[in-house]
Amino acid sequence: MLTEALQRRLAERHEQSRYRSRRLLDSAQGARIVVDGREFLQFCSNDYLGLANHPQLVSAMQNAAATYGVGGGASHLVCGHSSLHHQLEERLADITGRDRALLFSTGYMANLGTVTALMGKGDHILEDRLNHASLLDAGLLSGARFQRFQHNDIDDLERRLKKLPLEGLRLIVVDAVFSMDGDIAPLPELAALAKRYNAYLMADDAHGFGVLGKAGAGSSELFGLDQDQLPVLMGTLGKGIGSFGAFVAGSEVLIESLIQFARPYIYTTAMPPAVAAASLASLDILKSESWRREHLQCLIKRFRDGAAGLALPMMDSETAIQPLLVGEESQAIAISKGLEAEGVLVSAIRPPTVAAGQSRLRITLSAAHSEADIDRLLGALNKVVPAALRVAPRVL
Ligand SMILES: *Cc1c(COP(=O)(O)O)cnc(C)c1O
Repeated sequence: MLTEALQRRLAERHEQSRYRSRRLLDSAQGARIVVDGREFLQFCSNDYLGLANHPQLVSAMQNAAATYGVGGGASHLVCGHSSLHHQLEERLADITGRDRALLFSTGYMANLGTVTALMGKGDHILEDRLNHASLLDAGLLSGARFQRFQHNDIDDLERRLKKLPLEGLRLIVVDAVFSMDGDIAPLPELAALAKRYNAYLMADDAHGFGVLGKAGAGSSELFGLDQDQLPVLMGTLGKGIGSFGAFVAGSEVLIESLIQFARPYIYTTAMPPAVAAASLASLDILKSESWRREHLQCLIKRFRDGAAGLALPMMDSETAIQPLLVGEESQAIAISKGLEAEGVLVSAIRPPTVAAGQSRLRITLSAAHSEADIDRLLGALNKVVPAALRVAPRVL
């Protein structure tokens, strides 16, 4: 019975051109990777600063493993909280300008743990409808009243806040940089609205931390939002930071509450201390190699200018996430395959990750790329993206 039901669902996925399969990666991350036995120029990882294979991260991890071993061994609350984890938390609090930070094993768990620890029955959660799946899942799991407002729409959010009953706590939750769109949430406006309506603001900076802001401290630095304005700041370490794991930063009360009540924090093994050591090394590099952020900004500009010249249907994004809107699943796959034939790897993002009719190529740029790499990408796109998808040139 179950097997047949599953087979039907799988067949349906195939028919919808939504079936996903994994490729075999046989190299470290970098501008060039070996996938399914072939080398590609890739624009699909989230290693925005090109740190995932940085020699200083590699040696930090090796050295820490020589001292601390491999396994975390136990949860943080039992006997797995090593001094390397602790140092990393202190550095993260320092960089983000918060009282404290708490490490989680993954960003998914950080979001699940935080939202469910803070909110429960009788409370109210308002999320941007394009929030990351982990935040939407967290909202549902919390048992709070959960609603989604229109993407980056302050007026829609305010209308909803006005209608809330007085009872219950209120949490507004957004991606600081939207993972499939690349645009940035209007955090200062959201913070002001949260204050006015007695709500807490939480931002997920998975795609901003390390990359945005002069020092790489992310969206809160970019907008100059302190702990009072943006009380729940979540960031990840597996994207721009090039390592693995995640954190939540905020007040003493927030962090102590998470330690007591966040189940995905409590009931899981601490990440390997050597992974924390790699993250610490990466935070050093944020400071010593600020050219990585500057180079990335230059590449983004070069790509956007070039794409505009080719009338490519780019979405409105200034970050390293540069989606090219296609529409239909099958066409997104066809373009991705066409690029692959040119030796360029870009992933086609389809429903349910994005809404139906919104399939896209999610192009991600990295400081590991050179200007010549960007030009090669533009050349390949020009060859592969059909005329019907080109947009009318913008009149300035
Ligand atoms: C990737 C991502 C996460 C999950 O982080 P992991 O550390 O990969 O589990 C959470 N939120 C957003 C917006 C993300 O893009």
